[in-house]
Amino acid sequence: MKNYKIAVVNGDGIGHEIVPMGVEVLEAASAKFGFKLAITSFPFGAGYYQEHGDFMAEGAMEELKSFDAILFGAVGLPAVDDTLPFKLFTNKVRTAFKQYVNYRPVKLLDGIQSPLGTKTQADIDFVVIRENNEGEFVQNGRVMYGDEPHGFATDTSLFTRVGIERIAHYSFKLARKRRSKVTNVTKSNTMINTLAYWDRVIGEVAAQYPDVEYRKMYIDAATANFVLHPEYFDVVLTTNMLGDILSDLGGAIMGSLGFGPSGNLNPERTFPSMFEPIHGSAPDIAGKGIANPIGQIWSAAIMLEHLGEQAAADAIVAAINQTTAAGVLTTDAGGTNSTKEVAQSILKFL
Ligand code: ATP
Ligand code: MG
Repeated sequence: MKNYKIAVVNGDGIGHEIVPMGVEVLEAASAKFGFKLAITSFPFGAGYYQEHGDFMAEGAMEELKSFDAILFGAVGLPAVDDTLPFKLFTNKVRTAFKQYVNYRPVKLLDGIQSPLGTKTQADIDFVVIRENNEGEFVQNGRVMYGDEPHGFATDTSLFTRVGIERIAHYSFKLARKRRSKVTNVTKSNTMINTLAYWDRVIGEVAAQYPDVEYRKMYIDAATANFVLHPEYFDVVLTTNMLGDILSDLGGAIMGSLGFGPSGNLNPERTFPSMFEPIHGSAPDIAGKGIANPIGQIWSAAIMLEHLGEQAAADAIVAAINQTTAAGVLTTDAGGTNSTKEVAQSILKFL
């Protein structure tokens, strides 16, 4: 029997409510589909920072390396300055473990009405592939003379050929398993160095996949098209910051940010990958038992898919769809159910 070592990090806020639901669903799936899970929890995040002055224990990265995957909630507390390095929990794991793909499906669930009105499940079914290790979020910059009249600040983005090529290859290969279409979203008409280089390298890779339809689109047009013509998209290949923005928009057109799942993937499997909902720790609703657990549970399903447990992953996604079709929904998605009721329904259908 296969046995997977899973690290679980609730993080902060609603992470404490929804991650345990994800774990319950994983345990039910493992019993049903005949594999074992050895789960270890870690208390890292902003709460940990308040107590220990760092966002994770010393040596924790080394320890996390030995796991097959990480199931993660979200970090952040209003009382902790979010420009502190602790926020980098996510960035640190993503970069140290070479999770250079941020895989974010945008798919309308059964029975859910998109805020886009007439758009149906056939129209809203694409994946945002966000470059996850470099670009605008390398946090290379500084504030100089901040309190002076002539103060200024810089942030430098970094794009490497290796970094662009690998995310491009991942996207074109993924497109071959889907509807064979890649839309490269940038702003290379104004970011004339970095993003023009990005476009050039992506274009070179595109030429190696002549069977995949390849188009470029600027981010301003892409945001409008997400709303007006979501059916246009299949694989959306984009940079770190633009992908961050586009995937929240993707979550919104799915009917709630609380539905959005993601995987931070290391496709070569040299280090563990990490799975988390696209939303944050939602401190405004934390502790109330009303957070939508679906983005978290769906992320757990993507984790199983990554581990090779496709049947179990499909069964969880089917149980999620049966739950939304039955109208068992939290308030963010227009329902009246609690976090636990939604998770119980998914468990029942599973
Ligand atoms: P981050 O910077 O970590 O991405 P954020 O500032 O984008 O965080 P979120 O924590 O994602 O903010 O919350 C944005 C809004 O969405 C809040 O009003 C929050 O309550 C709501 N929200 C987020 N996740 C959920 C969820 N799972 N269920 C219900 N509402 C949610
Ligand atoms: Mg956010």
